[in-house]
Amino acid sequence: MPQKGILIVVSGPSGTGKGTVCRELLRSNPYLKYSISATTRSPRAGEVEGINYLFVAKDQFKTMIENDDLLEWAEVYDNFYGTPRHYVVEQLNRGYDVVLEIDTQGAMKVKEKFPEGVYIYIIPPSLDELADRIHKRGTDSLDVIKKRLECASGELSLAHNYHYIVMNDQVAAAVQKIKTIIAAEKLRAQRNTALIDNLYCAGCVGEE
Ligand code: 5GP
Repeated sequence: MPQKGILIVVSGPSGTGKGTVCRELLRSNPYLKYSISATTRSPRAGEVEGINYLFVAKDQFKTMIENDDLLEWAEVYDNFYGTPRHYVVEQLNRGYDVVLEIDTQGAMKVKEKFPEGVYIYIIPPSLDELADRIHKRGTDSLDVIKKRLECASGELSLAHNYHYIVMNDQVAAAVQKIKTIIAAEKLRAQRNTALIDNLYCAGCVGEE
């Protein structure tokens, strides 16, 4: 049996660059899998079905909830988002680490079910920088931008519920910090009890 993978949950205010950071993180690590969320939001320009999201109708989303297909779900900025359960559980059991890039409501629900997961909160260097990034992204209407910025301070107040805070001032530096977190988490004693047990067993071989 392979060692179970680690669930890595990444949140942060909209526009903080967590998507870019996660993409870079995944690019350099084949043992890391990305959980593709289902959403009722319409695709933005350039977004691809099955890569960025599973874009579903509201009815379909409701059926997924009723069938208990979602590990968690939340309403974010008037749209529904949820994590398909099967993929996450399967990859973890196969020994892969899985990244969920989800909002704080969803993250806290997952934390109740997976307290052994690693919870990382990404912050921008400043709120001005955050506003600037959302405007420059140019993918949202002014109304949506306003709503996202209003939510940002509420979101930030939940950061203390996470295990790690990573400031995304430089993408490469933020990615490196997360790699360091994952490397350290893999060495945690609680995740490595089998190593100790094996040493004991090896010591027992041939003993009278
Ligand atoms: P966006 O519309 O900008 O892609 O995402 C809006 C927010 O929804 C972001 O904070 C993103 O992390 C969050 N989100 C994306 N997928 C999920 C999900 O499966 N569950 C939850 N709870 N939030 C999600």
